[in-house]
Amino acid sequence: MTFEQLGIIDPILKALQREGYTHPTPIQEQAIPLLLNGKDLLGCAQTGTGKTAAFAVPIIQHLYQSKTRQKGSRPVRALIVAPTRELAIQIYESFTSYGQFTGLRSVVIYGGVKQGKQTQALQKGADILVATPGRLLDLIGQGFIDLSSVTHSVLDEADHMLDMGFIHDIKRIVRLLPQKRQSLFFSATMSKEIEALSKNILGQPARITIQPEQATAEKVDQALYYVSKPDKRKLLLHLLEEESMDSLLVFSRTKHGANKIVKILERAGHKAAAIHGNKSQNARQKALGEFKDGDLNVLVATDIAARGIDVDELSYVINYDLPNVPETYVHRIGRTGRAKASGIAISFCDTEERAYLKDIQKLIDQRIPVVSDHPYPDNGSRPETVPSNNPPRGGRKKQRNQRNGRNRRRS
Ligand code: AMP
Repeated sequence: MTFEQLGIIDPILKALQREGYTHPTPIQEQAIPLLLNGKDLLGCAQTGTGKTAAFAVPIIQHLYQSKTRQKGSRPVRALIVAPTRELAIQIYESFTSYGQFTGLRSVVIYGGVKQGKQTQALQKGADILVATPGRLLDLIGQGFIDLSSVTHSVLDEADHMLDMGFIHDIKRIVRLLPQKRQSLFFSATMSKEIEALSKNILGQPARITIQPEQATAEKVDQALYYVSKPDKRKLLLHLLEEESMDSLLVFSRTKHGANKIVKILERAGHKAAAIHGNKSQNARQKALGEFKDGDLNVLVATDIAARGIDVDELSYVINYDLPNVPETYVHRIGRTGRAKASGIAISFCDTEERAYLKDIQKLIDQRIPVVSDHPYPDNGSRPETVPSNNPPRGGRKKQRNQRNGRNRRRS
């Protein structure tokens, strides 16, 4: 299947070619024809599947071909709502890139920064508006945005929106949209709440599910290291020495933990930075930019900040802490093994995290291969070796003496 066969028009084909896309990903193959036909869509897919192009391309095509635009005026005709600034910027960049030969204008707005530049951009007109919910409502309230001409709306990462407490904002935004429009709704997971919200928003949608297991199993090489909590920092430094990790994203469950990991890495001479909710938007963008440019080789992130981060060629992800929500594991490792690259996802698991591991393995329906031959093994964390809650620890010293990190063996 090629993009031409999906019925995409020349100016967009040219942009996709320039991006280096040769073939559509599965979600693009399924979604693009439906969306070009005007259907509403309920998409169950995570970031990393190519879902942004799956919705951006048909929207750009509709707007380009539509006769509704009058010369001189540029009312917002497509509205994309995303939970985080990073994701909003990324979606905006995708629209700008796929639409570069169409003359359409995109604008992105998000909170945490002064509004001046954003309102100036809006005043020049926007065919496509990408927004986070809070700033969107704020600027609507101030009269900078009118949604009455919207013909296409997208709610991206709806599950994440709910996690972040945006449900009422979303409902308010939806009430401001014209009834007659094409409506798209994406979520990586489908809970009862998500289904209920989607019913509120969509008419009779087509449904597309791209299983996260496919993304994890096929593209990402996963590895599990049992290690005690205090040894995690040493194991991280050891792995950085052993493997040539050009670009590594480390996940920490907490902001404080992320800062601590950065300090450990910097002390060991690595170029690292943290991105999380307590960092200013500028600091986050700067760190992400430096990471993308290769000036930083390690980025340490919390889940909220990292979701949607799009770094081509990200070679490694390390779960320094295992996430307590199993779907988050799938999101995290989806950061690597993106549409173009294959990747490696390494997870550290200490005794307290065993229950999380069990849930993760149940969700992905596979056992993550264990690397037991490393300098900091913690048999206390290996459920199959020592089932008791108070594992004898005497063996560890001996094992350390038998260090042989180079002969990594997966069992
Ligand atoms: P997304 O799921 O939208 O975040 O996309 C994941 C990554 O895949 C991004 O880096 C896109 O630039 C890239 N991508 C999307 N579609 C394709 C495609 N058809 N071929 C190659 N790369 C793609």
